[in-house]
Amino acid sequence: MSVAEERIRAVEARIVKNDFETAVAFDTDGNVVFEKIGVHNEVDFTPEDLKKLTGRIVTHNHPFEKTTEVFGVKGTSSFSSNDLRTALKVGITETRMVVGDERYLFRWNNPDEELALDFLDEIFDLENVYELKIADAELELATVLDEFDINPCPRTQLDVDRVLTEYYQMRKDQYDHINELIYNNQQIGYTLRKECTQ
Ligand SMILES: [Zn+2]
Repeated sequence: MSVAEERIRAVEARIVKNDFETAVAFDTDGNVVFEKIGVHNEVDFTPEDLKKLTGRIVTHNHPFEKTTEVFGVKGTSSFSSNDLRTALKVGITETRMVVGDERYLFRWNNPDEELALDFLDEIFDLENVYELKIADAELELATVLDEFDINPCPRTQLDVDRVLTEYYQMRKDQYDHINELIYNNQQIGYTLRKECTQ
């Protein structure tokens, strides 16, 4: 393994444990040239930040979600359309993401711009389909939790368990579906790899 790769992995091992996102950019020798902390599900880049990402290797974490624990795995997620859009727009050399015990590596290889943008829209639409379903499940969860508060008994506990399981299943389906989409369209002009970190 190159020194650069070792340095990047050391940073990834640190940020993967956080329950908020952190983005870190490296030069080709693996020196940190930029680091920014975000919130639970995003890091907000200013135009000034974005300039610092061009030609860099940029990694970030997706905070561990309970979602995956339910299914007996340490972590799973998918790149967001926003991750890949930023990579295309500013010309990031390699975009990496770590979650649980997984590492995802993505590179654009001079794609046809129109095809690439259509593809990003396709991911974005899919994200929205799932976000709507998940918003419904969250509403239902709030309802059954209220009922459980008023009347904590085996029956209301079962309702909570059922809705939670549905919610987790939807998150997992979302990640699986988007990963499948990204994995299966590499002819557009990018590469995606997935590695186990342990
Ligand atoms: Zn991301």
